[in-house]
This record gives sequence, C-alpha cells and structure tokens, in this order.
Amino acid sequence: MPFRVYHGRNFEQIPQVARLPEDLRLAIRVVAEVLPFRVNQYVVDRLIDWDSVPDDPMYQLVFPQEGMLPPDRFAQLADLLRAGSEGEALERLVREIRCELNPHPAGQTTKNVPRVGNERLWGCQHKYRETLLFFPAAGQTCHSYCSFCFRWAQFVDHGTWKMAVREVATLHEYLQAHLEITDLLVTGGDPMVMKTARLEAYLRPLVAPEFDHVQTIRIGTKALTFWPYRFVTDPDADELLELFSFLVERGKHVAVMAHFEHGRELENEIVAEAVRRILDTGAVIRTQAPVLRHINDDPDVWASMWNRQVRMGMVPYYMFVERDTGARNYFEVPLERTWKIYREAIRQVSGLARTARGPSMSTDPGKVEVQGVAEVEGERVFVLRFIQARNPDWVQRPFFAEYDPEATWLDQLRPAFGAERFFFDE
Ligand SMILES: *Cc1c(COP(=O)(O)O)cnc(C)c1O
Repeated sequence: MPFRVYHGRNFEQIPQVARLPEDLRLAIRVVAEVLPFRVNQYVVDRLIDWDSVPDDPMYQLVFPQEGMLPPDRFAQLADLLRAGSEGEALERLVREIRCELNPHPAGQTTKNVPRVGNERLWGCQHKYRETLLFFPAAGQTCHSYCSFCFRWAQFVDHGTWKMAVREVATLHEYLQAHLEITDLLVTGGDPMVMKTARLEAYLRPLVAPEFDHVQTIRIGTKALTFWPYRFVTDPDADELLELFSFLVERGKHVAVMAHFEHGRELENEIVAEAVRRILDTGAVIRTQAPVLRHINDDPDVWASMWNRQVRMGMVPYYMFVERDTGARNYFEVPLERTWKIYREAIRQVSGLARTARGPSMSTDPGKVEVQGVAEVEGERVFVLRFIQARNPDWVQRPFFAEYDPEATWLDQLRPAFGAERFFFDE
C-alpha cells in the first residue's frame, strides 16, 4: 500500500472524487476551507465503499459534507470561492466561521494547562488527578482526519491554538514532581504518526525508579483504522512493538486506546494482523468512539462492533457523546437517543463486551454519564453521574436533570426538582 496523503485543496487528485457529482465536490471544497481535511490512500481504497457515497459511513468519517457548516456560512463561502477570491477576504471569513464553531470546548486551553513555577506547560493537560494528557509536538497530525474531530482546531493553521510539548525534559520534570499521576496518556493528533525513535525518547526513561508512580502508559490512536501498517510493515514497526514489550516487561501497563466508529474499520486482514502483533507484546487495546449521526447512530452497529472487538482480543471502553465543537450540529444525537442506542447495544452483547461505559459527555466539570431516563416522584428526569471529575469528590454521585428530549449536551440541561443549580456549580 503506497503511503499517499491528500489534504486541503488536493482532494481533486483523488480519482474516486473526480468522478463524484458536482455538488459533493463543491461541499468538500467549501467545508475543507474551514475544517481540516486529510485522507490517505488506504482509507480511499480499502475503507470507503464508493458505490454508497455519500451515505457510506467511512465516507462520512473523513470527507467534508455540506451540512457541516450553517447554511448561510456555506453559501457565503461558496460565493467567495466561485468568484475566485483568494487572500484576505477569504481568510477573514474562514477565521470568523472557525471562531463560531467553539474551537476549544471544556476549558481545554484555560483550565487544564498545568504550570511549572510561573510557566504554563503548553502541551500537557492535567484535569483529572491521576492522569496526565501529553501532546508530543511531533504527534500533532493524523494519518487522516475525522470530520467530527473535537481537536480539529489543532490542525488548522492557527499558531496559538496548537498544544504541544517540544521538550522531553519538560514532561519528565512534571511527572517527577507529581506523584499522584498514575497514568500518562500520550495523545494528539495521533502519536502513532511519530517515528518510534521519538516516542522512545519520551517513554523508555519512564522505567527508572523515579517514575515508579506512573504505572500505566496509554497511547490514544486511530492508526488501527487509518494506517494499520504502522504496526506491521512500516520500517520502524518492529521497534515500536519492541518498545511496548520493553515497557511491559519492566512492569508498566501499556494500553493502546484505539478509536473505532464502525465495524467496517475492523474488516481488513491487515487490521487483524496489527491487533495480534500489539497484543503479542503484552499491551492491551481498549476501544472508544462517540455516537454520530450519519455514521453509527444505530445500536446494531455498536453491538456488532463490540462483539468483533472482543473476539479480536480488544476491550470496549467508552461510548462518548459527540462534543460541542466543530461540525457538532451535523453529527449530534439527542442524549435520550444516545442512551437508548447504548442500552439496546449493551443488551445484545455478553458481559465481556459490557465493559463499555457511557454514553459519556466530556464536559468542563468532568465526564458525565447518562445513566438513563427515570420517573421520580412524578417527575421525568435524566439520571446522571460523573465518571471522572475535576474534583475527585464528585465522582459516582448520582444527580438529576429535567427530562428534555432534544438536549444534546450538559449545558442544555436544567436541574430537576426545581433546584437552582447542579451540586457541582456551587
Ligand atoms: C477522558 C480523559 C481522561 C481519562 O479518563 P479515564 O476515565 O481515566 O479514561 C484524562 N484526561 C482528560 C482531559 C480526559 O478527557
């Protein structure tokens, strides 16, 4: 498989795209000015079913669609592009639209960035006591971009919006100073776009005694979907797997946190081989994804995906609610329906696939799980709980919100039983 990547305006060079109707190509052209677009040859040739475009879930996963922008904004931008406008007017409009799409949800850049002395440590987020998120500078792209990605703002050219750490030493100093951190979560972008040698510089030193408190190394990635060759035939694939084995042998728990939105992503033999090779190192693979209209808002899709994952040796971990950023209007599903999808999917699978938690909203105060809709003293309510919280004391405390069949996010919910605010707002 050749490693060929298309991005931005180069989409016209994809032969399958050149054959698409004009309106679909216009949608790609317009929306890709605002939201990041990138796709590689593997996704184009081996994942997308071009006979089912535009409904094909894998096409929806990576290709821009007209509905991803508000209609007036789409029209304005299409007019500018048709008029052949380049330069400042276009840039200004694109920038405006991006700002309207809530580029940094949940206080990511304001509340989660830790300090060392007086310096802000851009490139790390420390929101939950035991887990440090780490964004290595070289891992801030992906093999392809998901059209719903909540980190989309990092991939558009907006210097100050990028989060990344350049210095290996900075990460290690922070970890040494914070003995409460048990989990290091390497994320991005996708750290699996990095060369193994770079990743090693961050991770290999963690077997030293001063990092004994860091028991788990998680790697968030969508490479098993977008470039499974990373673990099989890439020139440094074997070195990567040796790094995993080394960490496991020295007592670390290595968890590959894999994103899969749809069972289709698991079908190719190369994926099965990549999974086997990772598991052979002693690492585990845990899986997660949001519920997305147009892609996987169907309990059967989730049930068969989870069953297949368990059969391949992976552990279902999280079902998320689509976050309140980017093209959320296109993908979002009401909370009640998300919960019904979760419930109907979970009911179909055995206990070994019921390890998936959710549906969970990653909000400013924490990860809030929708446990269901219930009737309490004659009032219909959502039953909610924190799976994770800024304040560890909030974890696992059930709380209630007024039932609202349309609500898609926590900020649209009102406290139940006439309360003024939720307990964590106090
Ligand atoms: C989800 C998340 C984590 C990890 O939470 P777990 O429930 O331990 O998987 C850590 N930091 C942030 C900012 C997160 O959103």
